[in-house]
Amino acid sequence: GQNNAPDYLRGLNPEQRLAVETTEGPVLVLAGAGTGKTRVLTTRIAHILATGRAFPSQILAVTFTNKAAREMKQRIGILIGEGNVEGMPWLGTFHSIGVKLLRRHAELAGLRSDFTILDTDDVVRLIKQLIQAEGLDDKRWPAKQFAQMIDGWKNKGQGPADIAEGDARSFANGKGRELYKAYQERLQTLNACDFGDLLCHPIRIFRANPDVLKDYHRRFKYILVDEYQDTNTAQYMWLRLLAQRPSGSQPARSGSPGGRVPSFSGVSDRTEAASYRPATPEDESTVSAEGRKPDRASEPLRGPRGGPAPAGAEQPVSENKVNICCVGDDDQSIYGWRGAEVDNILRFDKDFPGATIIRLERNYRSTAHILGAASHLIAYNEGRFGKTLFTDRNDPEDGKVNVHAAWDSEEEARAIGETIEAYQRQKHNLNDMAILVRASFQMRAFEDRFITLGLNYRVIGGPRFYERMEIRDALAFFRVVANSTDDLAFERIVNVPKRGLGEATIRQIHDTARALRIPMLEAAGTLAESDELKPKPRAALREVAANFERWQKALETTPHTELAETILEESGYTDMWKNDRSAEAPGRLENLKELIRSMEEYESLRSFLEHVALVMDAEQNAGLDAVSIMTLHSAKGLEFETVFLPGWEEGLFPHQRALDEGGRSGLEEERRLAYVGLTRAKKNLHIWFVSNRLIHGLWQSTIPSRFLEELPEAHVEVAEAGNSYGGYGNPYGGGSFASGRGGGQGAGRQNPYGASRFDNIGGTSGGGEKSGAFSNTYSTPGWQRAQANRTEAT
Ligand code: ATP
Ligand code: MG
Repeated sequence: GQNNAPDYLRGLNPEQRLAVETTEGPVLVLAGAGTGKTRVLTTRIAHILATGRAFPSQILAVTFTNKAAREMKQRIGILIGEGNVEGMPWLGTFHSIGVKLLRRHAELAGLRSDFTILDTDDVVRLIKQLIQAEGLDDKRWPAKQFAQMIDGWKNKGQGPADIAEGDARSFANGKGRELYKAYQERLQTLNACDFGDLLCHPIRIFRANPDVLKDYHRRFKYILVDEYQDTNTAQYMWLRLLAQRPSGSQPARSGSPGGRVPSFSGVSDRTEAASYRPATPEDESTVSAEGRKPDRASEPLRGPRGGPAPAGAEQPVSENKVNICCVGDDDQSIYGWRGAEVDNILRFDKDFPGATIIRLERNYRSTAHILGAASHLIAYNEGRFGKTLFTDRNDPEDGKVNVHAAWDSEEEARAIGETIEAYQRQKHNLNDMAILVRASFQMRAFEDRFITLGLNYRVIGGPRFYERMEIRDALAFFRVVANSTDDLAFERIVNVPKRGLGEATIRQIHDTARALRIPMLEAAGTLAESDELKPKPRAALREVAANFERWQKALETTPHTELAETILEESGYTDMWKNDRSAEAPGRLENLKELIRSMEEYESLRSFLEHVALVMDAEQNAGLDAVSIMTLHSAKGLEFETVFLPGWEEGLFPHQRALDEGGRSGLEEERRLAYVGLTRAKKNLHIWFVSNRLIHGLWQSTIPSRFLEELPEAHVEVAEAGNSYGGYGNPYGGGSFASGRGGGQGAGRQNPYGASRFDNIGGTSGGGEKSGAFSNTYSTPGWQRAQANRTEAT
């Protein structure tokens, strides 16, 4: 009972506890933001471990980011004691678990276990080469576009053989499929794979090697997935392969033709219930062979569809059950543009028959105002599952959601900076504050401003440190040392610093490599010994080859950080920047130092390079008190005391591209993104919009986001002039929330450009009909354009 429950279960509400204690069989927790889904997963793992149901190595747990995985690991340690966890080798993102699987079975995918993971940049360059090799015009058929197509196919788990004719025909006069095939072959020669392969290769391996898959069936007794609403088809297939237990009599392949799921999936018929087999003696023996038997006595009592079961109706534990627990929120599905299928979550009970579906309705995160605003906004979406959310929090001190206007993004950044400093004076930690942007370009203004203010910040996700030129160069050197077949890396640095190796020489290396089917580095060595080259490039190549040979040898004997430094010195790369007179050079040298420093945390060069390839959500300034800046997409699952949401303007948020490409569903995904943003805040929420924005170097006048209209008045407060900061004259004059030009919810929705109750807050005195709320204060052309737009639309 509740009283003698272990510590880690106390404080959970009954539904959460049910989700934690229903360890056997499939469980889906479908619930809104901040209801404790992630906490349930963490506690569930703790419970499984604490009750001896499985060893840490028998639990497969998937989180959305590496950061989330680290935090989960930490939390489990706190719940049941570090000593009881001893690492969780299979806790990570789909990608990081995929790398691990692929390293173990690389040969089954035609790779060596030291394969390289290519980033987007590498992929694009590789594809460009292939397009050119086909004699195609790479301007007409941009490599980048094809890289996206490949990514899309891989998100659906489709190899070259799986893609429909029509799809491929749309690119390069029908050569799409051929190109895709050539690309995969090239990757194999390079002993490399791209991100999509980290999922697709394991899927293929599992499909083709039932014995391998069976090993994992035995290994993984519990599977847990966070943010299930954002799994894509490939991830879904991967999970189903690991979770399903095909019966011996039934062929593993149950592919139904014509489905969306490609032929090699084996899970084509998603509604098929028959692929789960009853327990076999073999499984029983596997369990005892692997360790302790599950502690049956501590099984929770429950009925077949959730809810407490009558006393005595204990469910026997049967090993055939798929012990998978997925948690998610259909309202937070925000990766549709990257192939996520929200249907995966809505179909869970068909995929996993007999699933216990649990709903959590109490929000523990946010104030009633924040929750009220978010719930109201998301209700504008159609086709939702629909959920109730409530909170007990009822603190009269809790402020409403604040909406602010600014003239432009510089002022927005300045004002947010001052608001942050004001919070700081009230003893708030910077760590508890976050700025969540719709598009990464928005970050620059904040970074600039915070540097000026000396305000610590960290950018999470997105292109940063590792994307810098000098870092990429250095990494290319390291990559070739770690994997001599990494031609892309080799090509990047073969003539860096300049050694007089012209395009002709490089082409010659290429040709030799292709003719002899050897890596470019090896080809360079061969050419250096032949007399096909002029003396100068020959000497240069000889040096390059000798360098790499030496470094590769040193890899075995020298600590990797030391070696990295040596490489940069002996290659002349460090000197190149030392001799560079440009303003950026000193910064680049500092970055290189920082790179070497950051390698110390890793055991080997290879594990470091792997980290770099995977690290999309690394933290900077870790340990320091700092404001977080990140995109809304990467804020999923996180929470902060105080959240700033800048840039709520039409075209930026909702983003024009989403509207253009996705139509209504594009808009709905943007709205879910807004919901994610709003629900990150625990206590304070500040939304901003600006009237003028510099986009692609052009000033554009803007219109407040329709999402602002969709916030309920009862929970929103429009900032008065100087309310949150002062000293900017009085551009925000009398605009008051209530004095907007009519515009009820419905009207705002139908015609976001019309009757906006936010028109006035950017302007002067309150809400005259078409009285040019803006023109009195400012008279720049942009301002007037904004006014003109409004007037037309009204
Ligand atoms: P999201 O949908 O945003 O990912 P979530 O459903 O995963 O949210 P959590 O992050 O697990 O929610 O929980 C939100 C907050 O509520 C956390 O701070 C968590 O510690 C707290 N919380 C969850 N359950 C409880 C509980 N039973 N008692 C007290 N606090 C709780
Ligand atoms: Mg969560």
